Amino acid sequence: MQEFEHTPSTDHKRYVRTVQLPSGKTIEVISFDQCSPPARELHRCPECGGDLVYPVAWEQTDATHWEVRLRCPSCEWAVTDIFEDQLIQAFDETLDRATELLVEDLRQLSRANMEEDVDRFIMAIEAGHVLPEDF
Ligand SMILES: [Zn+2]
Repeated sequence: MQEFEHTPSTDHKRYVRTVQLPSGKTIEVISFDQCSPPARELHRCPECGGDLVYPVAWEQTDATHWEVRLRCPSCEWAVTDIFEDQLIQAFDETLDRATELLVEDLRQLSRANMEEDVDRFIMAIEAGHVLPEDF
């Protein structure tokens, strides 16, 4: 289990982030002049803490910035803001991962449904409800 500790310090637009590596070693990541702290995760809702926030609309404003409208389906929180390309990239990756997880969930769900069907079928056979003329 990886642990990331975010300690943003807002003085002089400097953000210090302490990252603990899997080896146990701790490093400090310092970034300057960010529009927003690097700890910000766009998929996390600032209102209800849910992690289902998704982009409704987006438009590139310049080479490195995007204007994005975000919406949280859990509490209807929404915002339109300008974000850095870097943050959008990370968000995009998170969304990709979320989609993969969803597909995996669906796969497991359909497998479970099939097992249920098989169980029902076996029960029907045992109860004598399935006769040879059904085939
Ligand atoms: Zn929310």
